[in-house]
Amino acid sequence: MNTSRGFHIICEDLFKIYKVADLEVVALRGLDLIVQHGEVVAIVGASGSGKSTLLNILAGYDNPSAGNIFVGTRNLLQMNPKDVEEYRRSEIGFIWQQTNRNLFPYLTALENVTLPMMLIDGTQANKEKKGSELLDMVGLSHRSKHTPDKLSGGERQRVAIAVALSNSPKLLLADEPTGELDDRTASEILDLFGVVNRELGTTILIVTHDPDIAYKVGRVVLIRDGKTSIEIQRRRRYSGITGVAETEQELEEFVLVDGNGRIQIPEELLNHVGIEERAKIKLSPNGITITTDD
Ligand code: ADP
Ligand code: MG
Repeated sequence: MNTSRGFHIICEDLFKIYKVADLEVVALRGLDLIVQHGEVVAIVGASGSGKSTLLNILAGYDNPSAGNIFVGTRNLLQMNPKDVEEYRRSEIGFIWQQTNRNLFPYLTALENVTLPMMLIDGTQANKEKKGSELLDMVGLSHRSKHTPDKLSGGERQRVAIAVALSNSPKLLLADEPTGELDDRTASEILDLFGVVNRELGTTILIVTHDPDIAYKVGRVVLIRDGKTSIEIQRRRRYSGITGVAETEQELEEFVLVDGNGRIQIPEELLNHVGIEERAKIKLSPNGITITTDD
């Protein structure tokens, strides 16, 4: 049964609790997220807010402790280890922040790209052709015979994107792929995700610290304490991505309301109004007003 209701990703009330010795660390606490097919979504949040946990769960590297999660036609909670293996191989491309974690050091760029095709049917010649096309798309065909140590950080991430695309995944997950790069190179890499999205229609989730990201992608989701709390969209909705910040574009910010009617009110606002543990909530002519309880 297709449980994702036509969306590419549905996360509902997702919890992830890590047990470390006697302690429990709640990495995700009731996270909701819906992503359309072919959408580019940037995930932003402070260190420790649960971004990597979410990506690892989406990639099938980890299981949530509670909640629902659907990707395409799959219910990730009902997969056995063999399904997970097949899911990861056929549906997911993953890019790590550490440029050297993405590539085998003793293989050339082209060999790195063709290696994951080992388990796919087809001749070696066809695989190399596809590998060359992917390297061409990421702008590195002239480096195909180089090993990673001969490439710059930005070039290594370009190869990593080609590697992540070698199995023709529908979903590309990138965990701070520009974290180790200078601003200009980072911008070029973000641009490249835009090319991938436009040319292949791949759905892309990027975790990033780039403060200008909202001006570059159509949709930014802010994670705070293991929960999606705020979304920023351009007023004129644009689902792609551009490396150049279009700062004249107007942005709209939304507070997210979860399935139980809960919202996270930004701390700055609470402090500004002086709301601490309790507040009054009232219907007013143009919406709902939340005030201090005195
Ligand atoms: P982010 O990627 O946003 O920095 P993470 O998803 O890595 O955040 O981590 C969220 C929280 O979960 C943090 O408090 C982190 O210390 C904790 N955490 C992450 N992975 C583990 C793990 N394997 N074991 C225990 N705690 C973990
Ligand atoms: Mg992380």
